[in-house]
Amino acid sequence: MILPTQEIAAPIIAQVWDTLLITLLLLLLLIFIGAKLAKEIARPIEKMAKNASNNSLEQLAQQVENHHQCVEVAHLSHSMATLAKAQLDSIHTLEQQVHHRTLELQKANQRLTTLSEQDALTGIANRRAFDKRLQSAWQQAITTNTPLTVIICDIDHFKSFNDYYGHQAGDKALKTVAQHLQTHVRQGSDLLARYGGEEFALILPNTDLIQAGKAAEHLRQSLFATAIPREDMAPWVISLSLGYASLYPQHNQQVAELVQQADKQLYMAKANGRNQVQPPSAASI
Ligand code: GH3
Ligand code: MG
Ligand code: MG
Repeated sequence: MILPTQEIAAPIIAQVWDTLLITLLLLLLLIFIGAKLAKEIARPIEKMAKNASNNSLEQLAQQVENHHQCVEVAHLSHSMATLAKAQLDSIHTLEQQVHHRTLELQKANQRLTTLSEQDALTGIANRRAFDKRLQSAWQQAITTNTPLTVIICDIDHFKSFNDYYGHQAGDKALKTVAQHLQTHVRQGSDLLARYGGEEFALILPNTDLIQAGKAAEHLRQSLFATAIPREDMAPWVISLSLGYASLYPQHNQQVAELVQQADKQLYMAKANGRNQVQPPSAASI
């Protein structure tokens, strides 16, 4: 039986077209589903991963979960945002604690520095503070080409005072002398320190030899006039012997020279009878 080709081919061709059409539709559907999945799931997750790996907690915390149509992605986004907020909160708390502790540490350090530079008995600066300040005053005097003075005072026959009145009364007298001397220093520029047992030292910046002599004599007289009584020895009140030195510091000089010079003058004041100021001799200036 002979059938015309068209009769056989026509349904086959129609079926092929149908198949092609269905395949095309399926393909389009797949592309649509793929695009939808990419938009609703892959991209938001990718964005979250990027934020997380960038350490951008703020961005993670600000994720708006409602914006996602996929419920699971919205949940994931919400959970990550909650986690990021909690992390941010704990970082903030930690930062506050660190800031608070840093302030406390700074205050404690300041207290320690003050204590380490303070004489425990008299409350004035100690030898350590004196040495430190002398160094800076020396450098300052070189820079500004100004004179610098050091005065060293020593209570006369203080051992005898202690022996007579006892150590506690001696401590009290030391405090009184320190307080008295303190009232005669220029606040902000001068420094009074307890240099040793019953020795006090002063740093007077921008003070020349003549002014230094006047200042030392004023200290001696005013303490004497304060008349802290002592029955053990003439002149029957506590007196001071003082030595001082003053110079315009130069780069080739040592700061120790200034103190040594003042100390030498103090030694001479003692040798010459105490209760006096010994100016530097012309040869030593
Ligand atoms: P000079 O006039 O030669 O300086 O005689 P001085 O007796 O003052 O000197 P000396 O160096 O012989 O004795 C110093 C005395 O100072 C002896 C010591 O008991 C006393 N002293 C030192 N530090 C303190 C202190 O912190 N408290 C008391 N109470 N006395 C002290
Ligand atoms: Mg002494
Ligand atoms: Mg003495």
